[in-house]
Amino acid sequence: MNKLMKAAVLVREGEIELKEIPVPIPGQGEVLVRVRAATTCGTDLKLYTRGHPKFPPPLTLGHEFGGEIAQLGPGVEGFSQGARVTANVFGECGDCFYCRKGQGNLCERLVYNFGAFAEYNLIPASIVRKTLFPIPDQISDAEAAVLEPLVCVVHAFKKINPKAGETVAVIGAGGAISLLFIQMLVLAEVEDIIAIGHSDFRLQKAGQLGAKVSVNAKKQDPQQVIRDLSGGRGVDAAIECAGTREAWEKAVDITRPGGRVLWFGGLPGGTKIALDAGKVHYGGIDLYNSHGGTAADARRASELIFSGDIRTHPLITEELPLTEIEQAFQKMRAGEAVKVAIIP
Ligand SMILES: [Zn+2]
Ligand SMILES: [Zn+2]
Repeated sequence: MNKLMKAAVLVREGEIELKEIPVPIPGQGEVLVRVRAATTCGTDLKLYTRGHPKFPPPLTLGHEFGGEIAQLGPGVEGFSQGARVTANVFGECGDCFYCRKGQGNLCERLVYNFGAFAEYNLIPASIVRKTLFPIPDQISDAEAAVLEPLVCVVHAFKKINPKAGETVAVIGAGGAISLLFIQMLVLAEVEDIIAIGHSDFRLQKAGQLGAKVSVNAKKQDPQQVIRDLSGGRGVDAAIECAGTREAWEKAVDITRPGGRVLWFGGLPGGTKIALDAGKVHYGGIDLYNSHGGTAADARRASELIFSGDIRTHPLITEELPLTEIEQAFQKMRAGEAVKVAIIP
């Protein structure tokens, strides 16, 4: 009989049970990881509160982890038992129509890996092949866990391509994604980063990581602030990572003629947004959106974290044991935490 392990299983929407389930045995190409830290993410929170048609319960939540290899499945090469590793949450097949076009984020056979809020996590073979990374000594398990959000940010960043000397606004500032975008903007030597958010606690983080101006949209009108700062023109580029219809529209409103907009925060299917077509067309505003990332983006993201160029430590506001997983979600929901590191 298999050994048993504790796992935080979503049994139905809004309800997590800490269960004893069998420790998985790695099959061909798979790797079993002993989870040492797993960070909470907006996706887990969404699955917990709203559910997702693609990932029905029962489901062990958690997909951002750092840990050590407990057991290698047959045929795995290049890794050894005991090595510390992290992995991306999704792995492309490398072979379908989209993968061959370098658009692995749209892979027809994309494999996801959930199950990190548990003592052990089984990593699927396609992720082992493409996006399982050894963690260097100087990076902690929790820091390495925050890989997947940066994969998506790296992918999006290439599209909007912020340049040295520009003024860029980040809407939804203070959330984990925005704090990664802000650090990427600092690396790109963007001159002025304007953080727009709703929580002073989170905006303070944005300021610490490089935002020059912080706007709490509950207290100030962001459009007015940006008009005043930019001689009435608007920003060179706006990055939306709030995931609301208002934020998608606001991103266009605050962008100057000839500027760029990036929509990053996904909206539910069927959502319609209202744009001033004249402003977009005659103003020559380029519109981009981005979702997910490729295996190449994952490699780049791992380099950025492992080199210390992008710091994930400031995104982790707290550590909690696996038994307090629901409390971690409540804190995320209330905006009292950016990310919580769950220690199984
Ligand atoms: Zn995530
Ligand atoms: Zn594919």
